[in-house]
Amino acid sequence: MRAPAKLNLHLTVGAVRPDGFHELTTVFQAVGLYDEVTLRRADELTVKVTGVGADLVPLDATNLAARAVCLLAVQTGHDPRVAIAIHKGIPVAGGCAGGSADAAAALVGCDALWGCDWSRDRLAEAGAELGSDVPFALHGGTALGTGRGEQLTPVLEKGDYSWVLALSDEGLSTPAVYGELDRQRQTGPVGVVSDPAEVLAALRQGDAEALGRGLGNDLQPAALALKPSLRLLLEAARDLGALGAMVSGSGPTVAMLARDATAADTLASALSRAGLGVAVRRADGPVAGARVVGH
Ligand code: ATP
Repeated sequence: MRAPAKLNLHLTVGAVRPDGFHELTTVFQAVGLYDEVTLRRADELTVKVTGVGADLVPLDATNLAARAVCLLAVQTGHDPRVAIAIHKGIPVAGGCAGGSADAAAALVGCDALWGCDWSRDRLAEAGAELGSDVPFALHGGTALGTGRGEQLTPVLEKGDYSWVLALSDEGLSTPAVYGELDRQRQTGPVGVVSDPAEVLAALRQGDAEALGRGLGNDLQPAALALKPSLRLLLEAARDLGALGAMVSGSGPTVAMLARDATAADTLASALSRAGLGVAVRRADGPVAGARVVGH
């Protein structure tokens, strides 16, 4: 199975709900940076992880792919003893929902392995309890997310978008970033980004320039407070001619939008040479959600 990273092209963080989650309005886009997940029947449930940041990923029952296997096993009456192998291409704790991607891949994989034949919507409904980003990792494409981000509405869109991603080697904890935002909001207003209308209109028209102008993330000030060096990446994006740039989700991955694939390749090379201590990746979006690829 293969499951994509997500970017939040727009993220408005609202009030804290009684269940402790924040009310979100977000525009997700799945981009071509992937985790590969393979499953096979085994004597026990095991998790093996390779690839970028593998040492940061839990190998026990808290791994989101293992939790996904157990969840579907309970709901369908199948045996959860499978060997899970994950190859990380999505940065760990990078704000690109890599753990949710692995959970989505495991749901799709178990569905195929056990012949459950659940629809994507049914898998997404089940997966939402594993993490708010799991339904989007199943659906892919571009979508508007509300609630905790798990309620998805398709977005009218056209065109492909060329992204350059700057991956920091030390991640940011999502709860810590939300905590910092709450702290900042207690002491004064923190620039709330406007509604997603501009981003949605840009996507409808396939207008990369307007999309670049409209990118916005309420979590960005909090991520910058916890990791001030991210500011250098945002400045570099502007200086190197990106149409727009933002911290993705809770960060620290910084996503930069280029005019087209050629401009993105040029931007990626220049950023690599700039010596900012980040790994640079190219990824285009939108791409499909978690799916089976080969055997
Ligand atoms: P978010 O989905 O909140 O944006 P993120 O993209 O910042 O999260 P992830 O890579 O999804 O971060 O992982 C966050 C934490 O979840 C990791 O630090 C790790 O401890 C735990 N985790 C559990 N399972 C996985 C997995 N399969 N891959 C990556 N991290 C996992």
